Amino acid sequence: MNMSEPELFSMSGLRGELRRNEPMSRHTSWRAGGIAERTYAPADLADLQDFLRRLPADEPVLAVGLGSNLLVRDGGVRGTVLLMHGALAELRMEGEHIYAQAGVAGAKLARFAAANELCGAEFFAGIPGTLGGMLAMNAGCYGSETWDKVLRVQVLTRSGELIERMPGEYEVGYRSVRRISDLGFGVCQEATHADAAKSEILNPRSSEELFVAAWLQFERGDVEAARQQIKALMEKRSASQPLQQPNAGSVFRNPPGNHAAKLIEGCGLKGRRIGGAQVSEKHANFIVNAGGATAADIENLINEVKATVERQTGIELHPEVRIVGEKA
Ligand SMILES: Cc1cc2nc3c(=O)[nH]c(=O)nc-3n(C[C@H](O)[C@H](O)[C@H](O)COP(=O)(O)OP(=O)(O)OC[C@H]3O[C@@H](n4cnc5c(N)ncnc54)[C@H](O)[C@@H]3O)c2cc1C
Repeated sequence: MNMSEPELFSMSGLRGELRRNEPMSRHTSWRAGGIAERTYAPADLADLQDFLRRLPADEPVLAVGLGSNLLVRDGGVRGTVLLMHGALAELRMEGEHIYAQAGVAGAKLARFAAANELCGAEFFAGIPGTLGGMLAMNAGCYGSETWDKVLRVQVLTRSGELIERMPGEYEVGYRSVRRISDLGFGVCQEATHADAAKSEILNPRSSEELFVAAWLQFERGDVEAARQQIKALMEKRSASQPLQQPNAGSVFRNPPGNHAAKLIEGCGLKGRRIGGAQVSEKHANFIVNAGGATAADIENLINEVKATVERQTGIELHPEVRIVGEKA
């Protein structure tokens, strides 16, 4: 960063919280990983916009919601991590639609919809992420996906410009969202492999954007039935997922016509351990931090599972989790 530290702190008028050398293990559900050079928790959308406008043009930026799909390598993240959870927290009805900002958690969104007699948002309750992360991932479960519900989104460019976009401006697929740029290139909002660390970070030349809010559309319906559905989905999850141990949900995408968990279990990998990282005994597509796992333990286990499944079945698994940062 070109800006010296005293200058950075004298960014008068900013209302958010800036921290240096913040352990990302505090901001990721795996509770592992290196430090961020800087984190900024904006006070609200206007403050985030102001912050981005003032940030030196060469400063890399990474948005993080609840870190429930994120592995930050032990060498940490260069640049500034924007902590969106709770910061961009507006949630309200606008006519028949819900306006929700990117820092709103899935469970809160599901409860808000039910309280407003709207149905179809129940699935959000079981996804422990923010709306921003769910938009970036097209998160979903039990037959529903985030983008099925999107009327339009509000995004912020790296230089702080606020833009509204329609779903038609994105190529949306299974756990993948790409913006179709004016030039006809698919701009990557998605990264799953070795290039993840690069493509996740916004830089001034990148046309990637942060999701800051969305207008969502649901059906009118029975509020009590929606509440019961939320309860049932949560119970189903706690019966099938290792929720007592730090994890990041499904590590791999399901290959077409197959289930990653079934393939991993079939290769005898349940319980396989590297350092503090372990393939869950409860759900084979989950890797848990069984105690003191480093990001390298987790990444090495991801690579070993991928290689073993490919060797034994010929099927290539692709990680759903995003991997960012530098190796230690
Ligand atoms: C127990 C458990 C169960 C899970 N179950 C499911 C499930 O059923 N279905 C499912 O799809 N996922 C599931 N997940 C994974 C995860 O919750 C989702 O991928 C969720 O959408 C991630 O949201 P987040 O806010 O935590 O994003 P993060 O993990 O913080 O970030 C994920 C990615 O999104 C980007 N991002 C975050 N916020 C923004 C933003 N505002 N603008 C642009 N990019 C952004 C980040 O840079 C990163 O690349 C589960 C995870 C856990 C731990």
